[in-house]
Amino acid sequence: MTLLSEYKKKRKFERTPEPSGKIKRSASERPLMFVVQKHRASRLHYDFRLELDGVLKSWAIPKGPSLDPSVKRLAMMTEDHPLEYRMFEGTIPKGNYGAGEVIVWDDGVYHSAETADPKENRKKLKSGLMRGHLDILLLGKKLKGRFLLHKIKGDESERGNPWLLIKQEDEYASGAEVVDDITSVRSRRTLP
Ligand code: MN
Repeated sequence: MTLLSEYKKKRKFERTPEPSGKIKRSASERPLMFVVQKHRASRLHYDFRLELDGVLKSWAIPKGPSLDPSVKRLAMMTEDHPLEYRMFEGTIPKGNYGAGEVIVWDDGVYHSAETADPKENRKKLKSGLMRGHLDILLLGKKLKGRFLLHKIKGDESERGNPWLLIKQEDEYASGAEVVDDITSVRSRRTLP
């Protein structure tokens, strides 16, 4: 199965600094990683990516994540990205897909909110993804605690693949605007 075919189809790697991407089978005991990239393309958005099955499952969140459990943020599921994309910061040149600046806004590890056991975790996440209901625990620098990614049922072909990202009640829930922290966790850069 070529999980990255859509990713590759959209890009010309001789014209963009983004990674061309290989699917890497990783040790099944290693914690899974997540990244949130802030991306100033034609419209500013946040790309929320979860490592699973050797790729980064990806959602574009126009308004970015919120720590407030009463706030539901639209998260459009997009194509799988290669694992090394989580390191990517830089400029996608004009004329390329997603042209614009990218910084790594947050990163860390994550697991299913139901279990931290490495094998059970992967099973729970895969079935959650299939069911359109991912209950996860993020251990990032900005995003911490329990979040729910919930697929909105409906006509995918017309509306894309919309999900909602919702913070769940825990000690990290807050009314603070987490997107006000604008620096990269990798380079301390901000978007121009
Ligand atoms: Mn993007």
